[in-house]
Amino acid sequence: MTTPSREPRGAVARHTAYLTQFWDKTKDSRPTWHIDWGHAGFDIHTPPEPTSGHRPTLLARSWERPAPDGSGETWSYLHRGACLGCTWEGPNRRGTDEAIEDAHDHSHPGWRALPAVLERRSRHWFTHVQRLYPAGWFDRGGPIRTVRTGIEKQHKPGAAPGGGYDLATQAPERQRRTAIAEPLPLDANEPEAA
Ligand SMILES: [Zn+2]
Repeated sequence: MTTPSREPRGAVARHTAYLTQFWDKTKDSRPTWHIDWGHAGFDIHTPPEPTSGHRPTLLARSWERPAPDGSGETWSYLHRGACLGCTWEGPNRRGTDEAIEDAHDHSHPGWRALPAVLERRSRHWFTHVQRLYPAGWFDRGGPIRTVRTGIEKQHKPGAAPGGGYDLATQAPERQRRTAIAEPLPLDANEPEAA
């Protein structure tokens, strides 16, 4: 496939172009790349502001055609990781989580090596997380990695302490013990008031 040279590149330009189409009811905007609903930089009225540093987000468009990977399946949507600070875009993905991870490889390299923590939102939890993660990480929109014990296993935009992504870690029981034992003192080690 060829890409027309006039086609916008990057999350900011694509979403800005999409909004014009979205509000033009004579056009079908679904096949146009745009920031996916609820993801970083998304607004249905206001074009996104470019960020000063690299910030991950998610692009989506309808597809309804054979998968670009040649698998013979039909994909309803395509997704790509993208950046609010530059025009980088990741490869076409079927699922949202893969694309979001691509975006973090671009914006916050090293995130995969960070410790996964349990989902906690107390003051003590945040102090603990700040000690485990690099200085200034969350101020730069960095993600937090959490072990999900509930039914919600998808990555969540805006749920990290600084407004970045909460990236779910799939944690089989055995893997979870080994993964967490070293970097994260669990409740037994926390000096909580009895
Ligand atoms: Zn970037």
